[in-house]
Amino acid sequence: MKTITKNITSLFKPYLTVKNSYKGGKGVISKFEGQKVYKLSSNENPIGTSPLAIEAIKNATKDLYFYPDTTDIRLREALEVYYDHQLNKEQFVCAAGGSELIDLIIRAFVKEGEEVIVSTPCFVPYKMFSKWSGAEVINVPLSETDYSLQVEGIINAVTEKTRIIFLTSPNNPTGSYIKKREFESLLKQLPPHILVVFDEVYWHFAEAEDYTTALPYIAEYNNIIAINSFSKTYGLASLRIGYAYTNETVAAYLRQICKPFLITKLSLEGTIASLKDDEFINKTIQTIQTERKFLEEQYTLLGIQFYPTQANFFLINPPIPSTEFVEFLANEGIAVRPVDNFGAQGMVRISIGNREANEALIVALKKLVATITN
Ligand SMILES: *Cc1c(COP(=O)(O)O)cnc(C)c1O
Repeated sequence: MKTITKNITSLFKPYLTVKNSYKGGKGVISKFEGQKVYKLSSNENPIGTSPLAIEAIKNATKDLYFYPDTTDIRLREALEVYYDHQLNKEQFVCAAGGSELIDLIIRAFVKEGEEVIVSTPCFVPYKMFSKWSGAEVINVPLSETDYSLQVEGIINAVTEKTRIIFLTSPNNPTGSYIKKREFESLLKQLPPHILVVFDEVYWHFAEAEDYTTALPYIAEYNNIIAINSFSKTYGLASLRIGYAYTNETVAAYLRQICKPFLITKLSLEGTIASLKDDEFINKTIQTIQTERKFLEEQYTLLGIQFYPTQANFFLINPPIPSTEFVEFLANEGIAVRPVDNFGAQGMVRISIGNREANEALIVALKKLVATITN
């Protein structure tokens, strides 16, 4: 063997750095005995998990020593039924979370040196996973006034090297959404080989009349992939499962690079059961929509600056510097999320909780506002 003089660290890929690693929303710990704590930092379901899913998961535990199904076909069949056969089972791809699908799509379509377009403030994994592939991330920020999508800006940013445009509606962390006519205008102007990844994981919570998912456009446009997740509406964040839908050709291409046994038995059984639990889903949507109105009123009364939202969280502009604000609420037993790394400097994202959590939040905010004004 020849003498090797290179240090192993010199082989590290320059774009795989700590700077590009992910940090999730933190919880808080009680500051005194008996203090209740509330986690409003990761947009989790405020009413828990579908009881039907929990039952199915419990039943599945007796078979844990077996490998799970090699494919996601049973979930894809359940999704076809859930979508009322508007999509067929060959149009879905399931993976270990919406995030995993984002990674899968980037690996499938983007090479080192190619470009993806994002619009900040946005979900961190688009940028992070693109950088992991050595791609260039081109940012066309959302409008500063109302966080609307800059359609012309995106079209102007397209180059020979553009591969993917990431869109999110409702958007995380702003809660803003893409209007139907904006989406249509973008689709019409884009060259057909540029992929549009439409992340709609919060779609159940949207109420705006001109809101749309990607569903009505899938048949006409071959370059759309929609991303969905079981982490938010379905209350299954711990199971790590999500799905994408697109045309059959793209779906088949993506499925061939899914790792074998990527979806666990528990995830498969839990999600199939949850898709049938209309009662739980409706109750979740109802809770979010009711609590969203309640919080809007309360924030207004308190003079807390917030942005209109179609999602299960609010982006707020805190009355004191965001680090102090987050720390103040942590001391009150409430975890919220600073979102500077999403591209929203000095802002904080607060998930919509159940009434008890939201009331605790408002009590804490009242206390804060009183200390500021005194
Ligand atoms: C939560 C979230 C996802 C998916 O999360 P997973 O837990 O990986 O399924 C995807 N996109 C956005 C914008 C999100 O907020």
